Amino acid sequence: MSGDFLALAQAGVQKLSPYVPGKPVDELARELNIDPARIIKLASNENPMGGSPRALAAIRDALAELTRYPDGNGFDLKQLLSRRCGVEPNQVTLGNGSNDILEIVARAYLAPGLNAVFSEHAFAIYPIVTQAVGADARVAKAKDWGHDLPAMLAAIDSNTRVVFIANPNNPTGTWFGPQALAAFLAEVPEDVLVVLDEAYIEYAEGGDLPDGLNFLAQYPNLLVSRTFSKAYGLASLRVGYALSSPVVADVLNRVRQPFNVNSLALVAACAALDDVDFVDRSRQLNAVGMQQLESGMRQLGLTWIPSKANFIAVDVGREAAPVYEGLLREGVIVRPVAGYGMPNHLRVSIGLPAENSRFLEALNKVLARG
Ligand SMILES: *Cc1c(COP(=O)(O)O)cnc(C)c1O
Repeated sequence: MSGDFLALAQAGVQKLSPYVPGKPVDELARELNIDPARIIKLASNENPMGGSPRALAAIRDALAELTRYPDGNGFDLKQLLSRRCGVEPNQVTLGNGSNDILEIVARAYLAPGLNAVFSEHAFAIYPIVTQAVGADARVAKAKDWGHDLPAMLAAIDSNTRVVFIANPNNPTGTWFGPQALAAFLAEVPEDVLVVLDEAYIEYAEGGDLPDGLNFLAQYPNLLVSRTFSKAYGLASLRVGYALSSPVVADVLNRVRQPFNVNSLALVAACAALDDVDFVDRSRQLNAVGMQQLESGMRQLGLTWIPSKANFIAVDVGREAAPVYEGLLREGVIVRPVAGYGMPNHLRVSIGLPAENSRFLEALNKVLARG
């Protein structure tokens, strides 16, 4: 007799499904026996320009120090971030990607009997970190695919400790404006931590999206999380950060792993933060690519969810799984989102102009086959 180690897992974990990442290029190349150079991946919202050259140079310079533990306090990066964001260094928490921040928050503030509130169609990591610590997920209905902030407020009860909000949201690309955030924060009980996940904030133009940092001084129960994985082009290195009150930062610092951000990630993030030009060009390329995809989808007679991020969720007008498979056979990897309650949508990351064209051609071909 051996133990049933699925049944022995805590109840919340038994109910989880593993996170499904975008299919790696090499995996598709192996499966279809095709040249990886002929495959394009628009599946993980990565920066199609590659990394900032300054960040890559910083990594090369730091290689000799690989045998040493990294600076567990991330002094240099915290200094830079605090200046850039207008906060004190003791308000900055570094994470192994911003997913690490979300997990640290859950470990510090959630437990069995407590709950986290988030939206339908929200980022897949929120239920994972919540249920992994035995807490309950309270899912508020979405409105027009986006966060319904009044419904999220209504979902908060006396056992709620955390609200996870992504603005823009992934995988929908939906967003809300500064007034909506202000109204929401004014109503949230002060003992509920609001985690505002701004993974795509660098793509925002004009005043369409609130800058969460503007609300930090007024709301000690606000935490803003950001990442170097998207506009900064460093997804593989795993580095993100949180800005919060010093008290929340102190709590997170108690539970994080001591060396959660490696030395190459630290130096690369410092260099990337200084490369303002790279982020500007990323934003411009994204805006142009968004228009290209929108006009291409319009020509195909498709509808999509308007997006302020570096991806777009297109409604293929039928079950999307076979369309996804058809695109794979054309060497185009996008992201199916049925697991997010969106069985007719595919999420497409905005690529280089030539990649966007290839996607549109492949989509046209696959849809025409019926
Ligand atoms: C991509 C993404 C992140 C960033 O994840 P990292 O761990 O920093 O790579 C966080 N939140 C959302 C909503 C995302 O889409």
